Amino acid sequence: MKLQKACKHCSFITEEDTCPLCGNQTSRDWQGYVIIVDHTRSEIAKRMGINVNGKFALKVR
Ligand SMILES: [Zn+2]
Repeated sequence: MKLQKACKHCSFITEEDTCPLCGNQTSRDWQGYVIIVDHTRSEIAKRMGINVNGKFALKVR
């Protein structure tokens, strides 16, 4: 399994060094995650300002 990183801007989790969603730098230093399967119905997505499905970190440093 490859090392996963989280975007410092939108918290999207990816294996890339730059976020595929917003193009910002990703960090290896993150904790916890949520999986958004349907962002239109997710309260968490609404609260975090997420408008795509995917895996998102709860804390990114
Ligand atoms: Zn991002």
